[in-house]
Amino acid sequence: MIEARDVVKYFGRFKALDRVSFDVREGEKVVILGPSGSGKSTLLRSINQLETIDAGRIVVNGIDINDPATDITRVREEVGMVFQSFNLFPHKTVLENLTLAQVVVRKRSRQEAREKGLELLRKVGIAEKADVFPGRLSGGQQQRVAIARSLAMDPKLMLFDEPTSALDPEMIGEVLDVMKGLAREGMTMVVVTHEMGFAREVADRVIFMDHGAIVEEGTPEHFFTSP
Ligand code: ADP
Ligand code: ADP
Repeated sequence: MIEARDVVKYFGRFKALDRVSFDVREGEKVVILGPSGSGKSTLLRSINQLETIDAGRIVVNGIDINDPATDITRVREEVGMVFQSFNLFPHKTVLENLTLAQVVVRKRSRQEAREKGLELLRKVGIAEKADVFPGRLSGGQQQRVAIARSLAMDPKLMLFDEPTSALDPEMIGEVLDVMKGLAREGMTMVVVTHEMGFAREVADRVIFMDHGAIVEEGTPEHFFTSP
């Protein structure tokens, strides 16, 4: 699903990604760990074309995303991304947040988009909030809406960039539960997180980054079992 080879990314003279190579197979759950500033976010953003890379190659679901001939919107449509901040549209209701892109990008009818939106809100356990504005929701609820909004585009791959880092501790579990549900359904997921319990429970593979490079890669057992 993802094939990254020798990816290099500079911000000015600062090398944020230093020859990063890794693969993610269909259905695989990969958790990326590493200290702040180690390049985790830049790597995810590069996969979703929010950053352009300076060298190397990233192929997502068979599409070479750095080939100038590639239609970026096609890649973005296949890759869902959830950020630390929920980025919901504040002046749209929860349900409208879910239907907008379906109608505009996916060209679904309003009725179809509403049905799909409501189904996804039920899935993340928040259907009763369909008609309220995001500002009325807790952080955990907003993040669940953000996940549902991504899913409304039928992504083949979901990227999560510290999805629980901005949440109060008591709300972290409800978001992780939604993510665990997605994992059980077989979604291909790459997750940057500091939640070690999630990594241990869900990850097929853990990647550890430091100073823009992958310094270790292995199973959760490899990382979390003391010798
Ligand atoms: P992480 O997600 O592991 O905390 P990031 O990928 O966000 O790390 O950042 C890696 C490094 O690149 C950090 O030193 C950060 O300050 C720097 N960086 C990230 N984005 C930019 C940018 N747009 N301009 C300049 N430096 C950046
Ligand atoms: P995250 O916690 O999601 O990694 P950051 O707080 O590191 O996000 O970065 C937020 C935004 O600021 C990103 O768009 C990132 O590219 C940019 N950024 C991060 N570090 C720098 C920097 N040193 N100079 C300029 N922009 C930066």
